[in-house]
Amino acid sequence: MDDRLFRNAMGKFATGVTVVATEVDGKAHGMTANAFMSVSLNPKLVVVSIAEKASMLEKIKKSNTFSVNILSAEQQELSMIFAGQLKEHREVAFDRLGGVPVIAGALAQVACEVTAAHVEGDHTLFIGRVIEISIEESNAEPLIYFSGKYRSLAE
Ligand code: FAD
Ligand code: NAD
Repeated sequence: MDDRLFRNAMGKFATGVTVVATEVDGKAHGMTANAFMSVSLNPKLVVVSIAEKASMLEKIKKSNTFSVNILSAEQQELSMIFAGQLKEHREVAFDRLGGVPVIAGALAQVACEVTAAHVEGDHTLFIGRVIEISIEESNAEPLIYFSGKYRSLAE
């Protein structure tokens, strides 16, 4: 099957946008990801899917921790930074939650420790046990991704 057909079909599933972050040797690293899902309530588990070619893969394997930061509509530029879509390098300051780097101003920050890693095709699914959560109490709107484009919620 053609890759484009698959990607076009998957792109019809509107999602939020997250930045997955981790830290190795004192250096924080972020990566834009929409392959994120809540998995289990008891225990509290989430999953992220990381491409084998992403440098994030080795970093999470080393640190055994990651955060998932659900971006607000105002954070499209951060999504572009952490997807490598901007030409120039921008410095990003990270906050910390449960010892893991997190993105300030995200709608929700979810700090996790890895409990399992499943290699599936050209991605690795990391199951994360949630160790701490912080929710932005403002009524900020989410950043949306649909058909390869950033969107926002309409009233
Ligand atoms: P790099 O390409 O090295 O880093 C990514 C970018 O982040 C670089 O530009 C880098 O400069 C910047 N960066 C990293 N750390 C910092 C820091 N501390 N300060 C400042 N800048 C920093 N890929 C997946 O595997 N799974 C997904 O679920 C997924 N979902 C995506 C959803 C969307 C909407 C988009 C646009 C892309 C998605 N991708 C996904 C693709 C993925 O975001 C890119 O391929 C990304 O470039 C891979 O990052 P990397 O870990 O290889 O690191
Ligand atoms: P796109 O139009 O190809 O993406 C549409 C949808 O296809 C995505 O939301 C995702 O569900 C799926 N998809 C795309 N690339 C994939 C991959 N390598 N593995 C598994 N699923 C994939 O592309 P775009 O929306 O213009 O994305 C920009 C870049 O980000 C592309 O290089 C794309 O490959 C990458 N991306 C990767 C993933 C992922 O690895 N899970 C998800 C989204 C985007």
